[in-house]
Amino acid sequence: MSEHKYILEPYKGMNTRYRCPDCQQRDKTFSLYIDTETGEHIHSRVGRCNRESNCGYHYTPKQYFQDNNISFDTPQPKVTRMMEGKEVKQDSSKYRLIDKTTVIIEEPELNLHPALQSKLADLFLDVHQRFNIDFLIETHSEYILRRSQVIVAENEFEVAPNENPFCVHYFPKDIQHFPYRLDYQEDGSFNKNFGDGFFDEASSSTLELLKLKRQKKA
Ligand SMILES: [Zn+2]
Repeated sequence: MSEHKYILEPYKGMNTRYRCPDCQQRDKTFSLYIDTETGEHIHSRVGRCNRESNCGYHYTPKQYFQDNNISFDTPQPKVTRMMEGKEVKQDSSKYRLIDKTTVIIEEPELNLHPALQSKLADLFLDVHQRFNIDFLIETHSEYILRRSQVIVAENEFEVAPNENPFCVHYFPKDIQHFPYRLDYQEDGSFNKNFGDGFFDEASSSTLELLKLKRQKKA
């Protein structure tokens, strides 16, 4: 195999530079290695930060393959991957480790304590950033959503070029209404509201209580 099969992605504008997974410098200081045959990235952490003295992060494809026990010719995906709608079998040696994986989860909040529900947002983000795995999550958990809003605000994710890793689509209960996207603002708030009956009854009960208290005071 050619030694030059993997190179740092040539600069073609800022969309070919990334946020360093190590120093997290807000400017995009990170170059990723690509496979010259496929043009695909190896992994979201396999690359070099250009802040040589301040950060010095450099994770080479060779190191990455060694660390993950992936031989160059027969990488074996550890989990079943969904790619373009097709499942790839675990033991298949034909397939390369592909950069993009999407995991679909339905109601991950089931049977979880509220504190753990909100931690799911951190968990999904962490896995996404470390392993370049995307999640498509169907949820009714206000805790997960609220935590994502806090994360967006804390990281100022909507401030360019600091892209927001979260995206929310709301599906109204009433099928006559179309699903719509809720955009996060940099302070973590959404630009639109949820429809009635989405949030947990606890929140609406709290609101009811507040209203009642106010009425009593008046
Ligand atoms: Zn760095």
